[in-house]
Amino acid sequence: MIFAFDNSYARLPDRFHARVIPTAVAQPALLQVNEDFARQLGLNPSELHTQEATDIFAGNRLPEGAEPLAMAYAGHQFGSFVPQLGDGRAILLGERVTPDGVRVDIQLKGAGRTPFSRSGDGRACLGPVLREYLISEAMHAFGIPTTRGLAAVATGEPVYREHPLPGAILTRVASSHVRVGTFEYFRARQDSEALKTLADYVIARHFPALAETDQTYSGLLDAVATRQADLIAAWMSVGFIHGVMNTDNMSIVGETIDYGPCAFMDSYDPTTVFSSIDYRGRYAYGNQARIAHWNLSSLAMSLKPLLEQESDQAAARATAALDHFQARFDQAWLARFGCKLGLADAQSEDRALIKDFLDLLEQHQADFTNSFRALSSALEDGGDALAREVGQRDHGQACSPWLARWRERLAGDPLTDAERSQMMRQANPAVIPRNHRVEQALDAAEKGDMQPFERLLAVVREPWDDAKNNTGDDARDYAEISAFYQAP
Ligand code: AMP
Ligand code: MG
Ligand code: MG
Repeated sequence: MIFAFDNSYARLPDRFHARVIPTAVAQPALLQVNEDFARQLGLNPSELHTQEATDIFAGNRLPEGAEPLAMAYAGHQFGSFVPQLGDGRAILLGERVTPDGVRVDIQLKGAGRTPFSRSGDGRACLGPVLREYLISEAMHAFGIPTTRGLAAVATGEPVYREHPLPGAILTRVASSHVRVGTFEYFRARQDSEALKTLADYVIARHFPALAETDQTYSGLLDAVATRQADLIAAWMSVGFIHGVMNTDNMSIVGETIDYGPCAFMDSYDPTTVFSSIDYRGRYAYGNQARIAHWNLSSLAMSLKPLLEQESDQAAARATAALDHFQARFDQAWLARFGCKLGLADAQSEDRALIKDFLDLLEQHQADFTNSFRALSSALEDGGDALAREVGQRDHGQACSPWLARWRERLAGDPLTDAERSQMMRQANPAVIPRNHRVEQALDAAEKGDMQPFERLLAVVREPWDDAKNNTGDDARDYAEISAFYQAP
């Protein structure tokens, strides 16, 4: 297996990481390999099926050029600062520069203990590993920035949680594993030199244009804020709830990272949470932009020594960057939900129309995904599909006044009906990974049956087109597909 590693993070000073070798496992068995993704990375997909590759994905064999390490970072967990977290069960093998010139991290998650493991065992369970693999593929299919799985292997060893569970390792690929928490780590140590090294590293690797300006560090904050604003708006447009938006789980490049107790919402309710320990709804669906802003404020605090060096105006620019997050998020949210409503160029005045549709869904406990999908065909079916989703009992009466306003608004919009329906079907997925489907697939996988997982994976990889899913050429008929996107 030729990764042709070029390990820039390993070249950073020692205090950025701890060198650590993955702990070998008893009986590695390949669960998944992502051939399409491997091709994009410029890897040879047939090599992924070799025993050598399985051993690499299991941490039993180090690929040539790997310089394995655990990254140091801190983080605010549910609002409380923890000065040292770090990769407790993830080991970065190295970085690869793809044929497109993109540098990516190749990491094994669940590869054994590291100096940052504290009391943890350094291992991951098969269920959560496959869950991350599946949901990140769905996220990618939606066109939303995310880390991705290159492979998943079973370890053949039990992992002891409340009960013994089968262990697994995910090979995770990210544009970067640097987090907001990486900056917090050095700030907590008052290590301004390391902070500068880290910021310059991130700028050179991810935001090189900033190096040419005289607003390097305030510019970095603004760039991260922009990426996060776009990301959170994208999540919200598909009903995604990250679940644990701690600062150590917020990527500096704006990718979705660290899929834990995350999920897609069924019936629309902005207070929905998925983490069983999130008692106060800190990371609820409707709170995600506020939390991103909070996390970015912590990044701004961490950058303070660098901002002071930048110029007298840098502090004001940092404040402006945080304000910019809010404006950018509002704009991105409006654009996303505008497309969901069929508005090519949504304006501020359209917020009320969007909000009222969401209120209608909330009042009727209607399914978020299915209702927007049904709206996508309202120009063709007069709102019949929508009436089945919202206010079923009153035969669609509930939606009529809103639909009338919507049609009136569309009359002033330049798109043709066909163009509009097309746009809406690209903004309103027909398929999401439904929780109950995911749980079924993972239960079967734990018992050794990967088929339900494979089928679900195939379905979530084509989320936009129920008509295409209906052709049968890939042996998936419409009844089955619609069952996938039915609410429980
Ligand atoms: P997470 O909640 O997954 O974002 O993880 C928070 C912190 O706990 C990170 O520093 C992880 O590396 C660490 N951690 C989570 N699970 C384990 C484990 N099984 N063994 C060691 N460290 C862990
Ligand atoms: Mg984490
Ligand atoms: Mg984690």
